[in-house]
Amino acid sequence: MTERQRINIRGVNFDAVTFDEAVGRLTDALRTGVQTALYTPNSEIVQACVEDPSLAEIVNSAELITPDGIGVVKAGRILGTPFPGGRVAGFDLGRALFSKLGEMRKPDGTPYTVYFLGGKPGVAEAAQAKILEEFPDVCFAGCGDGYFKKTGEETEAVIRRVNESGADVLFVCLGAPTQEKWIWENRAKLPGVTLFLGLGGSLDGYAGIVKRAPKIFIRLGLEWFYRLCKEPWRIKRMMKLPVFYFGTWKYKLTRMKN
Ligand code: UDP
Repeated sequence: MTERQRINIRGVNFDAVTFDEAVGRLTDALRTGVQTALYTPNSEIVQACVEDPSLAEIVNSAELITPDGIGVVKAGRILGTPFPGGRVAGFDLGRALFSKLGEMRKPDGTPYTVYFLGGKPGVAEAAQAKILEEFPDVCFAGCGDGYFKKTGEETEAVIRRVNESGADVLFVCLGAPTQEKWIWENRAKLPGVTLFLGLGGSLDGYAGIVKRAPKIFIRLGLEWFYRLCKEPWRIKRMMKLPVFYFGTWKYKLTRMKN
């Protein structure tokens, strides 16, 4: 295995990969059966890691970490370590994986199977139906909503269901950082799962409940602004953005002085 090239943004060790390379890492992990977690932090989460080193440790434990957000990509440029592929969004990685899964087979000839975990009741089922319309060859092992207690008996029951389903790929869409913590705490109890994908609100997007920002907003790096207009309650979380941005400049200037 080639050594991972990393880009350190304020203590979070991102992988220096393009979008296609990230997809390749996911399909390679499936082929080789090496348990792999994918986290896609945005600047809110990086800032949360700056404020909470134990969260940084959890995030850094993933086998693949890609920048999902223009704030992190800009920080890469500010710190003189630009990301080779710019933003590598989790939502898009999930979709790219569906396009590969239909044609991939395990050594015994059976298809790899997917489990959707997360979202309000009914969302995972709706997302599954929409994905099957577009990618009819994808094989689902099951799905469940994300409103269960994240420790104790309710989590144990979820783990039992996923294990019994025989899923190879587990989408864990509980919002960040809940999903990263949940995967970190429970992955060892899910030995049959090869890929753990911590993909936030992606199931809402696949189900068509939350619309992705128009392409022009994404191209201009203003997806965060579109989301804020649609979901104004996000303002409290988004206040971490300017804190992250100014903190990154301060960090750079301090580094230059020393
Ligand atoms: N969610 C969940 N369980 C919870 C809390 C949240 O399944 O206990 C889901 C919620 O329904 C939504 C997703 O997690 O689908 C969070 O979406 P958001 O866009 O806020 O994700 P983030 O920005 O954190 O990646």
